[in-house]
Amino acid sequence: MTAVASAEERVVGCLLGGAVGDALGAPVEFLSLAQIREQFGPSGVQHYAPAYGRLGAITDDTQMTLFTAEGLIRGVRRYNQRGICNPVMVLWHAYLRWLGTQGEMRFDPQFPSRHNGWLWEVRQLHQRRNPGDTCLSALRSGVFGTTDEPINDSKGCGGIMRIAPVGLLAIAPFRLGCQVAAITHGHPSGYLAAGFLAHMVSELWRGNDLAAAIASARDELVRWPHHEECLAAVEAAASLAESAEACAESVESLGEGWVAEEALAIALFCALKARDFAHGVLLAVNHSGDSDSTGAITGNLLGARWGRSAIPEAFLRDLELRGVIEQMGRDLCHPEDCEDPHRYPPW
Ligand SMILES: [Mg+2]
Repeated sequence: MTAVASAEERVVGCLLGGAVGDALGAPVEFLSLAQIREQFGPSGVQHYAPAYGRLGAITDDTQMTLFTAEGLIRGVRRYNQRGICNPVMVLWHAYLRWLGTQGEMRFDPQFPSRHNGWLWEVRQLHQRRNPGDTCLSALRSGVFGTTDEPINDSKGCGGIMRIAPVGLLAIAPFRLGCQVAAITHGHPSGYLAAGFLAHMVSELWRGNDLAAAIASARDELVRWPHHEECLAAVEAAASLAESAEACAESVESLGEGWVAEEALAIALFCALKARDFAHGVLLAVNHSGDSDSTGAITGNLLGARWGRSAIPEAFLRDLELRGVIEQMGRDLCHPEDCEDPHRYPPW
């Protein structure tokens, strides 16, 4: 796994890796470890199993990740056109488009033409795949959450599971990751874990290794108020990775991953223990907790670290919306080329 992947390979690998982890975890998201072993054998899930009526189905994690990427590119286009842009506001609009794909067309006379761009036209995205209640209710409210004026006290993993693209494009990924997560999740651990992941992804696709990426993100984390809980989760994961076996019982000792700092801790442990992409991602989905989100975050990390060629072809072949995900990865690498205003309207 030491072959050098290009930057584009890593960016595309980050998105594809996240989607693969999401799809592997989808059929077992609501199963306990005992139920997973009973259904799939002692090693648990090893390949895609049917979910949402097909193999390789993605869930809300990948849907929202795609809208994060789309919003970032629109933000770059807006800045290039106008010389000014509030990227968080553009991301909010992207998430309101995602809300629209969930059948909730919140009409806002200020933004009558919000439902545009090529991603909105991908009809397969217009399906509900167990969207998180906090994301839905925060976006439905029409109120824009910030770290200074939290919209709620949620630290569910809905802020972190969608954030990886911020690390692929942003100049200050930790800060923007926090701001973008805080649109829907107001508890510090909810948005700080997201900032941590965005920062790590940024380090990884530029070629740094996991240990360096964790150390660098940790340096950023401790500058923020109320970082103690998130820091404790990160440190627990790193120290467990040094002492414990790569098994489901070790993963479960870090929590269930329904909340952001636990999802981050599980993903860090699985990424640190991974012998290869498949090993790490399968470790991340075979536990009693939020398997699709911990799978997605681990897949983001390992894909950004090793590039798309590390992802087994058997996983890519049956992945839902593979072509859309690859296209979004390429567009993130070359946002300056995305000039067609119908594909990425600049707001
Ligand atoms: Mg999900």
